[in-house]
Amino acid sequence: AAAPDADAALLERRGATIGPYSPLFYNRPLHFVSGDGVWLTDVHGERYLDAYNNVPSVGHANPRVADAISAQLHKLNVHTRYLSEPIVDYAEALLGTFGETLDRVYFTNSGSESNELALRIARHRTGATGILVTDFSYHGNTISLAQLTTGLEVSEPFGEHVRTLHVPDLDTPTAGDDETLLAEALAGADTAIAELQAAGHGVCALLIDSSFSTEGLPRLPEGYLEGLVARVRAAGGLIIADEVQAGLGRLGDDWWGHDAVGITPDFATLGKPLGNGFPIGGVVTTAELLESFSPSNMYFNTFAGTPAAAAAGHSTLLEVEERGLVGKAGDLGRYVGDRLGDLASRHDRVLASKGRGLFFGLSLVDAEGRPDGALAKEVVESLVRERILISKIGPFDSVLKIRPPLVIERPELDTVIDALDRALTTSAAAGGR
Ligand code: PMP
Repeated sequence: AAAPDADAALLERRGATIGPYSPLFYNRPLHFVSGDGVWLTDVHGERYLDAYNNVPSVGHANPRVADAISAQLHKLNVHTRYLSEPIVDYAEALLGTFGETLDRVYFTNSGSESNELALRIARHRTGATGILVTDFSYHGNTISLAQLTTGLEVSEPFGEHVRTLHVPDLDTPTAGDDETLLAEALAGADTAIAELQAAGHGVCALLIDSSFSTEGLPRLPEGYLEGLVARVRAAGGLIIADEVQAGLGRLGDDWWGHDAVGITPDFATLGKPLGNGFPIGGVVTTAELLESFSPSNMYFNTFAGTPAAAAAGHSTLLEVEERGLVGKAGDLGRYVGDRLGDLASRHDRVLASKGRGLFFGLSLVDAEGRPDGALAKEVVESLVRERILISKIGPFDSVLKIRPPLVIERPELDTVIDALDRALTTSAAAGGR
């Protein structure tokens, strides 16, 4: 084990090279040196239960994925302008998990690149520039994505061609009945579309995260997404489902979040979990959209879909498939939902249980029923002290964010939920907020 002050020394070296502004989690930064499934071991030899990370979707240091990447690296890894069997094999397997209409894929290296490319194709196809996103969503780190980012510090001015939509959440204390909330939200979409048209931007695309993750896992009124999609299509816009968070079985029962929430997009943009940590993303779309774009737009991406990236993506997909992790995420999600519902009924400060599949949380409030980000922080830190990793999300940072690798088992989920129960009891007993 490392000397107790080793982390302090590393933090100082990090500050002197990378600088102090790249955020680290938790009051006391953690320093992991190895992983195995849902477990992480830090530099002091302490083991942590990972209930947070979706990038290692099939588990930390997954041997099948590590071996596949390593074997390919030992054989060949080149840029993407040669014929390569691994990438075509992977593309076929990946497209096999999508509905019939989504039958082409361009590979990328990240979620940001995926959204950037989907928007570029959509602009080309529609001739419009107007973009609709939801409030407090996050879609990436490029200039054009910074222009549609709300709720985070970005110096890029908010785009004149962008309108945000407020996502209705039935769990909001002030929410009216379902019909009123739905009608208000859809009226908001009508207004945004009319504004984009009046300003001459037109409607290019609706870009939404199928899990509404940074928005805080809202519980949507029935008919909201269908109504929104219909309005955007009627205005000539295309639908981009950002699957960077929601994809690869995360929401349970379906491979992709848009299927789980019942919409058929024109683009699915992929990232995070696809290569179990090896950088690979993609834009899955229709043959017709690619045909409209590609003859007049050369798209070349040096690293996107190299043989090693394909090995990472394909072996990850096979792990998810052969271990039945998509269905399992659904079953575990229902079990967790019941247990979280029980916590919500016993703890005054829990407004509601949120999420689905293996992306879930609790929305926390203060004694007056207002969103309580400070309490959420307290609960997160209290779980870290028990060596369990979770985080928080939402416009007020008041929703606990629990999103473990898909290989988590029921006893480990029980460990997390029991710890939440204890943390809520002590935080509420401390009487603080
Ligand atoms: N979309 C969503 C929904 C995300 O959560 C993120 C990353 N947090 C991105 C896009 C951007 O992905 P990347 O960091 O791989 O560029």
